[in-house]
Amino acid sequence: MYCLSCKYDLRNLHDHRCPECGRPFDPSDDRTFSVPSSRMSRIALIGLFLLTVVVWGMVLPLLVWAIQVARAL
Ligand SMILES: [Zn+2]
Repeated sequence: MYCLSCKYDLRNLHDHRCPECGRPFDPSDDRTFSVPSSRMSRIALIGLFLLTVVVWGMVLPLLVWAIQVARAL
């Protein structure tokens, strides 16, 4: 978990206050600090989207070709 203002690492702190900029945070309220894992899941989501686009980019022409072959018969 990181400070919303200055991105200071807030893990393993006894005070619920950023030592860098003084911004208070509540460990039980994820709106008061930033969580890097939420950014990671966003990157994973973008990766999944790109993978879907790439897979469909390969599958769709094949599907169109199969339909054209089926119509020619
Ligand atoms: Zn801070």
